[in-house]
Amino acid sequence: MFFRKVEDAASAGVALAPSPIARTVAPIAIEELSHFKTFADVPKFQKALSAGIRPLIALPQEVREKVVVVEQPGRIALVVQADVDRSQLESIKGKLREHNYALRVATADPVVIRDIYQGAGEAGDVDRSARAGNEFMKESAEWVAYAVQNRATDIHLEVRGSIGVVRVRVDGELEAMKGPNGGRYTAKFMEQCMASLFNNDQQSKSGSDSLFDKEKFLYCMVPYSERGLSLKLRFQSMKGNEGPKTVLRLLHVDENQPTLTFEQLGYAPSHVALWEQAMQTPSGMVLIAGVTGSGKSTLLKSFIELNPNTPRSAVSTIEDPVEYPIRGAHQIPIQRDLSDGKESAKRYAETIGALMRSDPDIVMLGEIRDHFSANAAQQLAETGHMALGTVHAHLLSGIVPRLVNPEIGFSRQILTAPNIATLFAYQALVAKLCPACCMGTTEASQHDLSVATIAGHMKTLGIDAAPMRWKRIGGCTECRQRGTVGLTVAAEMLMPDEEWLRPIREGRDTDAVEVYRSRSNGRFDDPDMTGKTVFEHTLYKALAGQVDARQCSRFDTWHRFMLHANRRKQPS
Ligand SMILES: [Zn+2]
Repeated sequence: MFFRKVEDAASAGVALAPSPIARTVAPIAIEELSHFKTFADVPKFQKALSAGIRPLIALPQEVREKVVVVEQPGRIALVVQADVDRSQLESIKGKLREHNYALRVATADPVVIRDIYQGAGEAGDVDRSARAGNEFMKESAEWVAYAVQNRATDIHLEVRGSIGVVRVRVDGELEAMKGPNGGRYTAKFMEQCMASLFNNDQQSKSGSDSLFDKEKFLYCMVPYSERGLSLKLRFQSMKGNEGPKTVLRLLHVDENQPTLTFEQLGYAPSHVALWEQAMQTPSGMVLIAGVTGSGKSTLLKSFIELNPNTPRSAVSTIEDPVEYPIRGAHQIPIQRDLSDGKESAKRYAETIGALMRSDPDIVMLGEIRDHFSANAAQQLAETGHMALGTVHAHLLSGIVPRLVNPEIGFSRQILTAPNIATLFAYQALVAKLCPACCMGTTEASQHDLSVATIAGHMKTLGIDAAPMRWKRIGGCTECRQRGTVGLTVAAEMLMPDEEWLRPIREGRDTDAVEVYRSRSNGRFDDPDMTGKTVFEHTLYKALAGQVDARQCSRFDTWHRFMLHANRRKQPS
């Protein structure tokens, strides 16, 4: 990299007066670095001096968007800025000189500055020394940095015969890691990386002597702080026919991260109204269904942190494991996935017992998946407390069948009693289209027949399909060739009432679905999601040009949707 050295005195004309200590040292060189376009361009640093709870350089929010200061070895402060006000910059440089920092200044795209702040932890301190000598940890650090920079949620490390492959999940889809070697390594190197990640964590726990074994199913939580990032990596490895596979889920655990509102998550105003109503009725069961990786943990975190009752309530969570810090909650880690099912159940039951005796108001129970968790939810709801939980069910209509199956064992009588079920929600994540490269219907139809079919459906229903947009395969530079720029929620929600509960009580689940859907206004380009399905919420976003309508078929077939929609159109 090209460094241009400038004498300190020459450029410090408008700086704050240096302290007496600073004046005694020799003029400090300023190096003007080149421009950083991505996080990976930023040279290694120890911590962010302008981030954390008590930053050395405290900046107002509007300035933080334009500048970040990171510390490099040798007491060097690197000021990374994007069009920051000249006087602001000089003031920052002045403060750094007062603290005897040598200065470097570089420019960067605003996204780089945001990435550094998002990754910075409470104190920003980085334990680099312990890992410095380990080439496997170094390579792993590259993968994590790449994953963060590309908004990946998971890193997949796979050994297939003699090769090892790194893939990342971005916007819901797995892709090869781009880079000099396309994410390909030797199998041996890959296995050693897996082992380093696992063993490094195990060694830091006193009394733990288990080492990585590629023939086992291993699971642990790896705290990770490098390059100013504060993450936890949920490590899960599995044996396999062609070699082991390890998946790292990236959990951003920065406590300074603002709570995401329901709107920011992607909920419609009518959904938000239901969430708010549930908060105002702090009793009964609030259950969230969705597949793995559908953002249920983030949603529950928001529900607790945004809940106006939280500050004056006893809020506890039981988590396997604790993923994100939740403000205002007492979080209890518990391992439920033990090979010994009895031991697992016993631990959970003990925790529940202790919680019930501890004067709770709101308890997040984790997944409702057995008699213990079901009994706890019931007990809390019956005694006027709030039980939050997740259910492994597909769609809103799958929640009740799941709860009454013998494994969990809810009775329909109890489930449908007054004040037991407060709110049911089903949540999924769909990819947002890149506004810079998404295609109009005419262009997209040339690539995929199903686009024309969907546009035809809209015509049949008398809906204006002109604002619809479609994903461009190969994307553009704005979206780093993905065609998508993040994820948004698609949901269906229900606040059970007697009209819906009656058919449920009588085992007529299909009739209950009809009751739910009869409340829809039947207008698919209208934001009111009352009585609408997750398919229809996705379609609404597609009709607004935000997501690709082909994603609707993840939730139902177009055939069934059209049958329903046409039936609704018939005058009754
Ligand atoms: Zn694009």
